[in-house]
Amino acid sequence: MNEKVRVRFAPSPTGPLHIGGVRTALFNYLFAKRHKGDFILRIEDTDQSRYVEGAEQYIINALNWCGIPFDEGPGKESNCGPYRQSERKELYHQYALRLVEEGKAYYAFDTPERLDFHRKDHEAKGKTFIYNWHNRLKLSNSLSLSPLELKAKLNAGEDYVIRFKSPQDEQLVLHDLIRGRINIDTNILDDKVLFKSDGMPTYHLANIVDDHLMGISHVIRGEEWLPSLALHQLLYDAFGWKAPQFAHLPLIMKPVGKGKLSKRDGEKGGFPVFPLSWNDSIGYKEAGYLPEALVNFLALLGWNPGTEQELFSLDELVQAFSLDRVNKSGARFDPEKAKWYNHQYLQKKSNPELAEWFLSYVQENLTSFSVRTLDLDYLTKVIGLIKERATFVSDFWELGSYFFLTPSSYNEKAVNKAWKAETSEIMEQIVPLLEKIDAFESSNIETIVKTWIADQELSFGKVMPPLRLVIVGDMKGPHLFDILELLGKEESVHRIKTAISNLPN
Ligand code: GLU
Repeated sequence: MNEKVRVRFAPSPTGPLHIGGVRTALFNYLFAKRHKGDFILRIEDTDQSRYVEGAEQYIINALNWCGIPFDEGPGKESNCGPYRQSERKELYHQYALRLVEEGKAYYAFDTPERLDFHRKDHEAKGKTFIYNWHNRLKLSNSLSLSPLELKAKLNAGEDYVIRFKSPQDEQLVLHDLIRGRINIDTNILDDKVLFKSDGMPTYHLANIVDDHLMGISHVIRGEEWLPSLALHQLLYDAFGWKAPQFAHLPLIMKPVGKGKLSKRDGEKGGFPVFPLSWNDSIGYKEAGYLPEALVNFLALLGWNPGTEQELFSLDELVQAFSLDRVNKSGARFDPEKAKWYNHQYLQKKSNPELAEWFLSYVQENLTSFSVRTLDLDYLTKVIGLIKERATFVSDFWELGSYFFLTPSSYNEKAVNKAWKAETSEIMEQIVPLLEKIDAFESSNIETIVKTWIADQELSFGKVMPPLRLVIVGDMKGPHLFDILELLGKEESVHRIKTAISNLPN
């Protein structure tokens, strides 16, 4: 690539960033970094009626949490700022006027009521109303009015919009880096509004002007913008500007069936669709996902490396990413795969790191439990034993609460299976056996207990399952002697005694 790669993520601050938006940002980031280019954040806030307070900060926080920060954007000004379209407002009018002067755009005075009338009138006749070469001369605009009429309207300060004069009878050939060549007959295009009566540009005008002024080399965005591509290409041509290259990313589809992934799918399926929490909707972060897991998962949503490799660090993604390997067809969203990624990344974290995380989780969420010990060293060891089965930090509690609390009840099924008439007596004999052990370490305890079982001519089945039951409260958990070592002699003995008094003799 000869020219400097500059890409932008251009969300409208109309609410939280959907997971699809994060994927778009990520692909832009990867592409920029792959080509040693710039990744720009531009806030497209020209539609004041859809502006949502806090959305811009949310977007910035989300990108930062994902570890895909922008190089230029609000708060990171560079030569091409400002990066909020509302702050560039003055700029757009002149560009719209330039097209009017050159006969490529025109003033239109039709009121919303008149347009509505035409729409309904067409509908009644089984037709669709399109404001373009078909009927523009029958409507109220600078092409149909006489120069005097036009002047009078402008002088009277009548509300107007500026519409693009889309060409008649032309065959457009568009190029998309993912979809290839696309042919469009211009006769189906309408004369889109470029500039609104409220003094603001529409998305189309502001987007083109800014991409040009910001030196954007590649526009990578969601497939929902593909229908705008023809107009955008025509606008670049009208201004005499070189258009960036375009890549429209495949839609993210529901986990089951057809259709675009929606917020409702997340609610139904119990998985987040936002990176961070927003009002009542829980985000990936708050649900316990690691940002690197989410990023890896999203990277493979519509892109593939061409190999079997599934685990990629961000750096590896940057090295491997190319638009050639982005699919045309929709990418099915699989929340189970997101969990799989989280499991993988959780395993990569060091035990002390997870211990700190788990400690804050316990402090925030389990305030009602009187936890036996919150010593970091102890937590680290516990995590070492149960980590393998955990997908989320919250699973540590699920998997290992017995490391902190003496069981106060016992799994009924397990009791029926493991607790026999003679068990109490056997457990009573284990107490002094354990009490006598000086080096209370897993392998030592194991040797002593197993030797004792052999000496007593007992079977393992008579001793080990009930021993696990009294220590854990259930039949689950890692190697029993590792658990005993961690709990320590005193607590282990205490648990055996508690069970003897709680379970039938
Ligand atoms: N503001 C548009 C959006 O909200 C940007 C589309 C584009 O990238 O051109 O997605």
